[in-house]
Amino acid sequence: MTVIEEMQKFAADMTEFRHDLHAHPELGYHEERTADRVARRLAGYGVDVHRGLATTGVVGTLRRGNSTRSLGLRAELDALPMAELNRFSHRSRHEGRMHACGHDGHTTMLLGAARYLADQGDFDGVVNFIFQPAEEGGAGANAMIKEGLFEQFPCDRVFGMHNAPGLATGKFSIRSGPMMAGCAFFDVTVGGVGGHGAMPETAVDPIVAASHIVSALQTIVSRNLRPFEPAVVTVTQIHAGDAYNVIPAQAVLRGTVRCFAPQIMSAIGKRIEQLAANVASGLGATAKTDYRVVYPPLVNHTDETRYIADVAAELVGEENVLRDGRQTMASEDFSFMLNARPGAFINIGNGDGDGGCAVHNPNYDFNDAILPLGAALWVRLVEKRLAHGDEAGVASDHVAMARDGGAP
Ligand SMILES: [Zn+2]
Ligand SMILES: [Zn+2]
Repeated sequence: MTVIEEMQKFAADMTEFRHDLHAHPELGYHEERTADRVARRLAGYGVDVHRGLATTGVVGTLRRGNSTRSLGLRAELDALPMAELNRFSHRSRHEGRMHACGHDGHTTMLLGAARYLADQGDFDGVVNFIFQPAEEGGAGANAMIKEGLFEQFPCDRVFGMHNAPGLATGKFSIRSGPMMAGCAFFDVTVGGVGGHGAMPETAVDPIVAASHIVSALQTIVSRNLRPFEPAVVTVTQIHAGDAYNVIPAQAVLRGTVRCFAPQIMSAIGKRIEQLAANVASGLGATAKTDYRVVYPPLVNHTDETRYIADVAAELVGEENVLRDGRQTMASEDFSFMLNARPGAFINIGNGDGDGGCAVHNPNYDFNDAILPLGAALWVRLVEKRLAHGDEAGVASDHVAMARDGGAP
């Protein structure tokens, strides 16, 4: 019986578990109930459980044999601060919170793999099941690393998986190198002089200055970057004023920057600051910019990308693995883990039908049909990477290096 067929036996249980998480979404660093449920399940499977890393993080450790080779597999616990519009029975019970990114599904797939591996996994080494808090803007992955994740739980390699709406079920997508953009946030505070709305000559209008700044920011991507450097500068918030007839003293702009290269990220930050200050000054106002890089770009390592793609191809056939998958300007804090350890991040198709609605959409739902496949990918990755003897993980590194012409 194949691993996917074995996993199908867990399908009903996984679906029930996933629905329960979906109905009880929790925000970053407050995933107490979710972490409790995950920890209880892991302990029930006989996996060693460690809690409290980055507040609500959970790490399950499973050892077999004598090998010290180790793998980290990561899933996310958190939901988003948004209202769900779905009406199905497992919709969110918490007003203003929703599992709209499928982290409920990712957590369930990793637990399914832990259950199988604890029960009948055939491997020699150490698997760390990493359940992180606060992926959605809270940099939970980085918080776990800073609190000693990889010192307490050594991982030779790390892997992550995310569902991809629009990609057919039964398909995987991945690419070597930069796959997801880095992310920065900015605040521009525009200072003017308040006054009567009917007497603009007595005031310095920060709303007019802010409007010109928004327009000027559009020139960064179109005029300052090489056309071959993908980047996004988006103003997402404008706040100013309270009355119809008062010119306020201040306006605040906020927004996000996405791009793939750290030097471009800092160059854009400098440009925002210069444009804001000088456009404001031309209009008699002032502008102060606060610019902070939140997530680095997600860069897949070449050998590990090929490795997990090969495992995926064994499960679903080479024709269903896009090895040159699309880049996205969305961001992901698994990038911190890939900056700390070699590894790769793979997308699993969530379906391309009518229900294939995008993540972060109020009508989104994780596709339960792919739970066994995602869990099976984790299982096969572990069993191949940590195969008995020397032939798998270590030997295949050497094969890959020889193929790439790299030195050991
Ligand atoms: Zn998300
Ligand atoms: Zn996500």
